[in-house]
Amino acid sequence: MSILIAGGGIGGLITALELHQKGFDVRVFEAVDEIRPLGVGINVLPHAVRVLAAHDLLGKLADTAITTGELAYFNRHGQEIWKEPRGVGAGYNFPQFSIHRGDLQMILLHEAERILGKDRIRKGRKLIRFEETATGRARAFFTDPRGENPETIEADLLIAADGIHSVARAQMYPNEGPPIWNGRVLWRAVSKNQKPYLSGRTMIMAGHQDQKFVCYPISREAEKRGVSDINWIAELSFDPSKGWRREDYNRAGVLADFAPRFASWKFDWLDVPGLIESSEQIWEYPLVDRNPVDRWTFGPVTLLGDSAHPMYPIGSNGASQGILDAECLANSIEKHGETHAALAAYEAERRPPTSAIVLANRQNGPEQVMQMAEERAPDGFRHVEDVISRQELEDIANRYKQLAGFTKQHVNKVA
Ligand SMILES: Cc1cc2nc3c(=O)[nH]c(=O)nc-3n(C[C@H](O)[C@H](O)[C@H](O)COP(=O)(O)OP(=O)(O)OC[C@H]3O[C@@H](n4cnc5c(N)ncnc54)[C@H](O)[C@@H]3O)c2cc1C
Repeated sequence: MSILIAGGGIGGLITALELHQKGFDVRVFEAVDEIRPLGVGINVLPHAVRVLAAHDLLGKLADTAITTGELAYFNRHGQEIWKEPRGVGAGYNFPQFSIHRGDLQMILLHEAERILGKDRIRKGRKLIRFEETATGRARAFFTDPRGENPETIEADLLIAADGIHSVARAQMYPNEGPPIWNGRVLWRAVSKNQKPYLSGRTMIMAGHQDQKFVCYPISREAEKRGVSDINWIAELSFDPSKGWRREDYNRAGVLADFAPRFASWKFDWLDVPGLIESSEQIWEYPLVDRNPVDRWTFGPVTLLGDSAHPMYPIGSNGASQGILDAECLANSIEKHGETHAALAAYEAERRPPTSAIVLANRQNGPEQVMQMAEERAPDGFRHVEDVISRQELEDIANRYKQLAGFTKQHVNKVA
């Protein structure tokens, strides 16, 4: 009895840890020859931190990440629209972490290699296709990243955690085509050794849906030195019919393409142009997702994480939902065994809520308050309540938490 996981990203690695903890024979096949700490910052919400805590990773995370204290939205004039405490400060039993994606992936990789054994996390093994055997098992075909050294492996189940360009999903949906671009482009970077702003642990978003700036500190090590390594994202909208360069997490960005648009965003609590200029390396990425699909599971094969529900990075859910998938899938396999029924039960539980988040993020999720402020008071406001009532603001924040499964009541009850 055995389970294969294609993809050693955040979703694949936590799935391996979850399944191993429940006693299953599991192996990860990652396409790249060497897993390197790529990407920029992400947030891990308390419901996903709860899953990581069950693997005793809380200490390592707290030593690496910033324990997020609050989330605040501002208009493009730097005026505060909404602020809320996050994580433990908001009454959750678990913190929210702002962390470099690569650091999180390396924490999971080292833990998976330590617990499962290095030989169980195979690198340089790219899934190229799968099929179901006559007895209902999964047969997976791998090569190295250059398309050489083919290898065929059979197992009871194949979990495709191979990201937004999933090969398994492309085989399931051959006509789906590339991810969908909505006209927005993100420029992302980390500016190191900055003066801390606001609480020193605040995640901020400023602007509106066509021009936005997001930032948050991500390094505990920098915090210990009294400075902040600040992850930032500058976002602009373009005409989607013009097309953009294919999404690639490692494409270098150019200051001249976006920085002039933020030149006047000097708030008394944050110097946005100063922050942009002090970064060493900028990455450019078009905002893309995919339409929710009707089915993730085909016999002994299912999708997980970004292969299943690639979504806009709005509301801090990309990595968090993949981690929740892993927990649900492992529970389902524990209950139903390494069977097709286990995959179907996992899909029945996870596909509806994650599809709803994909769609809600297209409407800007909880960030819609910024667009409301822009439409109702483009020149700014004296008091935010003159523009959006307190009740309206609370309702939007609460509705999204409900939808994404991280209300305090839910997270603390599950814990
Ligand atoms: C290099 C990189 C950088 C990223 N940077 C950011 C970021 O800065 N901010 C952010 O919010 N999100 C980022 N993401 C996305 C974020 O990690 C995911 O949204 C989230 O963590 C869900 O994880 P996942 O494991 O489903 O997918 P991913 O994290 O995309 O992991 C998929 C893994 O599968 C591997 N893989 C791909 N194809 C195959 C194949 N055919 N066979 C075997 N393995 C395969 C990939 O190499 C990767 O390791 C990044 C993803 C990648 C791969």
